[in-house]
Amino acid sequence: MPLALFFKPQASCLLPSRASRLTPHALRLFFMKIIADFHVHSAYSRATSQEMHLPAMARWAGLKGIHLLGTGDFTHPAYFEEIKTDLEETGQGLLKLKGEKSTAAHFILTAETSHIYTQAGKGRRVHMMVFAPTIRSVEKINLHLGRIGNVNSDGRPIFGFSAKDLVKIVLDIDPACLVVPAHVWTPWFSVFGSHSGFDSLEECFEEETANIQVIETGLSSDPAMNRRWSALDRLSLLSNSDAHSPAKIGREANILDCSWSYGDIIQTIKNKDPQHFLATIEFFPEEGKYHFDGHRSCGICYSPEQTREKDYLCPVCGKNLVVGVMHRVETLADRPEGFVPQEAVPALHLVPLEEILGEVYAVGVQSRRIRKEYLRLIERGGSEFRILMDLSEEELRTFMDDRLADGIMQVRRGLVQVKPGYDGVYGQVGIFKNEAPSPPSSPQLTLF
Ligand SMILES: [Zn+2]
Ligand SMILES: [Zn+2]
Repeated sequence: MPLALFFKPQASCLLPSRASRLTPHALRLFFMKIIADFHVHSAYSRATSQEMHLPAMARWAGLKGIHLLGTGDFTHPAYFEEIKTDLEETGQGLLKLKGEKSTAAHFILTAETSHIYTQAGKGRRVHMMVFAPTIRSVEKINLHLGRIGNVNSDGRPIFGFSAKDLVKIVLDIDPACLVVPAHVWTPWFSVFGSHSGFDSLEECFEEETANIQVIETGLSSDPAMNRRWSALDRLSLLSNSDAHSPAKIGREANILDCSWSYGDIIQTIKNKDPQHFLATIEFFPEEGKYHFDGHRSCGICYSPEQTREKDYLCPVCGKNLVVGVMHRVETLADRPEGFVPQEAVPALHLVPLEEILGEVYAVGVQSRRIRKEYLRLIERGGSEFRILMDLSEEELRTFMDDRLADGIMQVRRGLVQVKPGYDGVYGQVGIFKNEAPSPPSSPQLTLF
């Protein structure tokens, strides 16, 4: 299979290097900013970890350096009971674990819904996110949704009514809610998806389009890709993890400089003023599992150009290839690659620390050794984001071996190659380009 290698200098992303030179005092100020991940799933959603309950989610948010976490799944009756039992409202439209100090991670009420319906003679599947300001508004939303659909079977309920109807229903109940098309480019379940989406927001949302002010870019695209399409210029771009297990929390996130209130947070997101919406934290989009086109079962991974050359047909099985996110962006974009809009919210591309550890020590990311070393590093470094973005190189070298510090610095400089993901297969990051991977018996393992 063709392996495309990417080399992405991220010199324009100044936050990490600037932060790495900050004094301890300034660093503290930086960390008073709100790092938020709004889209996660609870144990009540399909294919999620059984650990995804609020106390574990809060603990992992702390390890990651996430200050504000979406609850996810508030439409699910049993999970909503957990929300009401485990959390208390702060009075500012946010929540925290009962009895926790105010410095612990806070929660914001969020959910995702799946809409499967026919419009203009075509089957549509669109995922949507909902933000709500109070337990009271969630009660009203859930009551309504429970009457017109099944909210019990999945933490991310499947509805037969349209994404447009959801916008109207939710905003009629509480105009302070925010409704956001989720991971807008993924092929199977999104507003612009190649297989069941639309060619514009207007086509999908019709007279509700003006109520769509924010979209989620998803793991397989980054803001730069989205900014190639001028139709999205007026929209704010959110980045969230869509985590199904605790360790995946924060793999994408948003850095906001605003007060700790629901209203201010929503307004800051909508305004997309880089003075307050400071940055998004991104996967390298090639790492996302729908970045390129292809067939998982046939082992075919194609760039958009290769797919066009093959007439969209798989050379192994002869069926249509699954057209991924890059291809779809190229189809709809009206600007060349590399276009940078004025006043854009900066994007920081990171590789999760456990993945860097996995490569540095040539051990599976899921292994117990990696987890143990990860927790040791967090204990020393404060949080994953502090290690990845903020601590200076010298500080890093005081509590980790040089090769790991080198790896983190490589990622900060954007010196990473990624074998792109396709048809549900995650891309693979390579940090040390010209080296053969260490064998599993590498002496570095003694570090653990
Ligand atoms: Zn989704
Ligand atoms: Zn095939």
